[in-house]
Amino acid sequence: MDYFQYKNGSLFAEDVAVEKIAAKVGTPVYIYSKATFIEHLQKSQQAYRELDTLVCYSVKACGNINILKFMAQTGCGFDVVSGGELYRVMQAGGDPAKVVYAGVGKTDNEIIQALKAGIAYFNIESEAELENLIQLVKIANRKSQIANPNAALRVNPDVDPKTHKYTTTGKKESKFGVDIERAEKFFHDYGKNNPVQLCAIHIHLGSAGHTVEPYIEAIKKVLALIERLRSDGFTIEALDVGGGYGADYVTGTAPTAADYAAAIVPLLKGKNLRLILEPGASIAANAAILLTRVLYLKKGGEKKFVIVDAGMNDLIRPPLYGAFHFIWPANVSEKLTPHQRERDLKLTGTEVVDVVGPICEGADFFAQDRAFPPVKRGDLISIFTAGAYGFSMSSNYNARGRAAEVLVDGSNFSVIRKRETYEDLTALEK
Ligand SMILES: *Cc1c(COP(=O)(O)O)cnc(C)c1O
Repeated sequence: MDYFQYKNGSLFAEDVAVEKIAAKVGTPVYIYSKATFIEHLQKSQQAYRELDTLVCYSVKACGNINILKFMAQTGCGFDVVSGGELYRVMQAGGDPAKVVYAGVGKTDNEIIQALKAGIAYFNIESEAELENLIQLVKIANRKSQIANPNAALRVNPDVDPKTHKYTTTGKKESKFGVDIERAEKFFHDYGKNNPVQLCAIHIHLGSAGHTVEPYIEAIKKVLALIERLRSDGFTIEALDVGGGYGADYVTGTAPTAADYAAAIVPLLKGKNLRLILEPGASIAANAAILLTRVLYLKKGGEKKFVIVDAGMNDLIRPPLYGAFHFIWPANVSEKLTPHQRERDLKLTGTEVVDVVGPICEGADFFAQDRAFPPVKRGDLISIFTAGAYGFSMSSNYNARGRAAEVLVDGSNFSVIRKRETYEDLTALEK
């Protein structure tokens, strides 16, 4: 679901023709739909309303402070994985009491920053990390700077969401969390008489799973763990089930928030657990396109290349994860208007092309061997479902300034991050 639709052959973001944005702001440009973000967030919040639930949007998916701001105003909490992300949340006016903080390598400075902010839970990934946190809390306590923090133990339920190996994080051999067998010993060692209140369990299976089953399997495993811990006298007040819910890169392929909730809510009803969710992609992915312009057409052997002005520095998901993005010209004839986003949308009149960027790497592609309408130099092309891990993973490789970000709200649009200039590129080197 999103608000990027064709009207009479022209692509609109909500009520604004994307062509109009390109004319004013240039390309490449990330165009976000505020209504899409809010609708996805609210659907998640409502799907779990039977339970005491906090939705903590995963900042790393897309963290522009102007976006975090309206998310916070819609009651959203945040999942952060660094001090920089916590800083973004605070800049956006987010409530630190609704922040959960995961990550295997939190530094002392980051931990102290989060202690001072007063976040909801540190999601603890190892014994060594918790011992360090306890030390830092003791030091801070002596200076009476902070309240004692709450922590969740991140456990590895050892289930496979059957996604790309780089986005699988809940299997035994992953660097994240501790094995479920070790969790009980962990609580016996650290779960009582500590300045850090270990009182919750966290799981995160990885990203882009497209079925509900791994969540059911993992939640059943941790519920059994929670029962054992409670009968040993430990207080477990919350279960954080992480993120990784499917996003509709291809129309109609991902379970909805309601589908996930229909499976998850019955498992947790009456369990006296506060539920925390950390969706990233399922909220942000469909909420943006990356709009780019055709620079050149060329042939290489039998292949046809459409060379565009966006590159892998702007959107790295296709080469990094083998990710699929639906791509289509922003202006097409009525008979070439796509009514949904499919992996192989073959309308009569298309040809097979690679859509590639200008960067000096063979991996700089957005699509390979894709059926595509004929285009010419200067045409605008939309790379859909680019809101998650798009801009947030972008870089300055090849000394390219990062793209501008534009937020559309109804019939209005505003630049929420300026295009980087050459001066920006060298500013910190002087
Ligand atoms: C990345 C991440 C998420 C969000 O994952 P999505 O696939 O974008 O939903 C949630 N929780 C943790 C701990 C993460 O690292």
